[in-house]
Amino acid sequence: PKIAAQAKKKKTLEPGIKITPRSEDWSAWYLDVIEAADLIDESPVRGCKIFKPNGFAVWEGIQRLMDPKIKEMGVQNAYFPLLIPVSFLSKEASHVDGFAKECAVVTHYRLRSVAEVEPGGPLVEVDPESQLTDPYVVRPTSETVVWHMYSKWISSYRDLPLKLNQWANVMRWEMRTRPFLRTSEFLWQEGHTAHASSEEADAQAREVLDVYLELAQDELCLPIVPGRKSANERFAGAVETYTIEALTPNGMAIQAGTSHFLGQNFAKAFDVKYLSEEQKSEYVWASSWGVSTRLIGAVIMAHSDDDGLVMPPALAAVQVVVVPLYAKDPDQQAAVLDAAAALRKDLVAIGIRVHVDDRLSMKPGAKYFEWERRGVPLRLELGARDLEKGVALGKLRTGGEKIQVPLDEAATEVPKALSQMKLELQSRSEQLKQRLIFRIESRADFDERLKEREPGMMLIPWGGDDDDEDNLKDETGVTLRCYPMEQDELPDNQVCPLTGKPARQWAIFAKAY
Ligand code: AMP
Repeated sequence: PKIAAQAKKKKTLEPGIKITPRSEDWSAWYLDVIEAADLIDESPVRGCKIFKPNGFAVWEGIQRLMDPKIKEMGVQNAYFPLLIPVSFLSKEASHVDGFAKECAVVTHYRLRSVAEVEPGGPLVEVDPESQLTDPYVVRPTSETVVWHMYSKWISSYRDLPLKLNQWANVMRWEMRTRPFLRTSEFLWQEGHTAHASSEEADAQAREVLDVYLELAQDELCLPIVPGRKSANERFAGAVETYTIEALTPNGMAIQAGTSHFLGQNFAKAFDVKYLSEEQKSEYVWASSWGVSTRLIGAVIMAHSDDDGLVMPPALAAVQVVVVPLYAKDPDQQAAVLDAAAALRKDLVAIGIRVHVDDRLSMKPGAKYFEWERRGVPLRLELGARDLEKGVALGKLRTGGEKIQVPLDEAATEVPKALSQMKLELQSRSEQLKQRLIFRIESRADFDERLKEREPGMMLIPWGGDDDDEDNLKDETGVTLRCYPMEQDELPDNQVCPLTGKPARQWAIFAKAY
């Protein structure tokens, strides 16, 4: 009865913004969840967001999970400059073709004082005398500068493989932006590897895809389909692009990470050759790969609800919030606070990220409400009466009954509760895949799906070519997300239901969010 009373009280304590229900307006819900969790703010620059501490902590979480996996592959971290000479981008034809339209260009290097300042007018302007003869682009990705340097660093088979990664920001002048999912400036890691053989470079790109899949599925609990991109959707300059596509609960797709086999395209453009063991001069083979702050958007979409953010335990900056409750008696209050501090210590000792919310000015209901909105996986309430029984009351962000956590067993019970939540999120994601991935048998089937609120991923025995793919995109807004890695055998004489041509392989089509 006491718990029920608290739940009722919560409704009247709602501070701040009201979250639009998902069922009402998906896009508004997504923005509201981000605002309610205080993750980012608008910046004065179009398409660029400010990561507030709560938002940046999520990115730090991705780095914490991803960086050791990168190093485990024998890749080292390095750093290359933000500015790249425009002339570098002209060296690889398809690369420049893909990126030219979204490059920010630095053309001048100085400002000067305005001679006659109008009231309220600017004090400085770009100094036309400081125009650069060789302008720079703000890196949209770093293949060109990396391969420029690789031409200096690689000369023999002994220099290979060379595997570097950088954690950096990049800039792509995106016209339509959405927080985390598509911004003009974004944060990412970009790996760039150089190899002696085609097989080795391609194997590297595939190994990275497995690592991305492990991160996305096992730790971020996302519903993912790994696959290969079609020629149309490939990275500019790649021979093959591998992708992890996330399915959103509103039946759309998000490209959550990509890994490219670049063949010898960049080695040829930047003249990177090595002398083989047989003393033959050969071009080097390459891979490049990246995941960005878009992953955060995919996580928000996948797990959050009408009460706000839900963070998978592996990613959450705060995994457990301990809320010591108010006690009238000062001795009891001191005991509760001591017990909360001891609980924190026990959990920190086993590597759990804990916060004790001992703000005295705030009612417990308001605290619960706030931590729910911030997506903290587990809340532990600790009151004087609980303390007498030697327990804290636990509540998982994914719902369910409150659980009693014996204080002297917290170091085993809390990890158990967190892994229960992880399993719950993974099972929801699996169910979503079951519910929203459809085999399409006919054009009518396909058109029916597109009329649905949640169109989903459509698995099609595809026989179309690049033009068919383009036409379908223009006509319906649906794109070929990937050829899934897992390919069931095609029935004999299978015809593509959309083009009438003989089917070649299974392809996933969806609207991209
Ligand atoms: P790419 O170099 O184009 O293969 O991009 C690597 C990864 O960065 C993609 O798989 C996306 O997940 C992510 N990404 C690409 N463009 C953006 C953007 N405008 N905002 C955020 N993330 C992006």
